[in-house]
Amino acid sequence: MTRCGWAGAACLWTLCLTLLWCGRGPRTPARTEPEAARREPATLMAVSMAPCAHEPAGPAREAGASAPERDVPSSEPIAVSLLQELEPAPVQAQAPEARVLTARATAYCPCKRCCGRFADGRTSLGTSAWRRGIASDPTVIPYGARVTVPGYGTAEVDDTGPAMRRSWHGQGRVHIDVRFLYHWQARQWGTRTVTIRVEPPEGVPPTGIFAPGSTLGLE
Ligand SMILES: [Zn+2]
Repeated sequence: MTRCGWAGAACLWTLCLTLLWCGRGPRTPARTEPEAARREPATLMAVSMAPCAHEPAGPAREAGASAPERDVPSSEPIAVSLLQELEPAPVQAQAPEARVLTARATAYCPCKRCCGRFADGRTSLGTSAWRRGIASDPTVIPYGARVTVPGYGTAEVDDTGPAMRRSWHGQGRVHIDVRFLYHWQARQWGTRTVTIRVEPPEGVPPTGIFAPGSTLGLE
């Protein structure tokens, strides 16, 4: 029983050595073809699974190489597609995401009672104040940003005022001033706390809440 066991173990050992030797065989030549191994892991698997044979690598690679030729009928489209690949894609400046903020919203019109000494009919950008628009601290909500205010609508930031700057720098509160054409409309608006949606101005470097790294108003 014991002798039989030893004999069996010796047999197994010899078998193992043989298998190992045979198994090592195909792997060594595979290393001499690193380009095939690196490019096509599937081919490498085929090589190492076939005992003591080098055959599968060739046909597999040919099949892989001939596949694209069947898709492209002539050489001209290849040149065109290569050209398209080489040409750098137009660099699209990634527009910052729109922000959603809670803001204090007051209202004004271009009249002297609302604007005092600044009542010259012009916004701080120099455009006509006789249309709807929004004033903000432009270091927070930059000029040109489109702001949607519930109960008012959507308008562009084109003006500023000391109250907006004080709210931000003194209280850390976003403050906008929505502009109406008539004084009574501004009076009627009063002061509200609103949730506004702010879209970044186009074609200018992002500043304020849209500056790189600013997460104000992001989800
Ligand atoms: Zn007014």
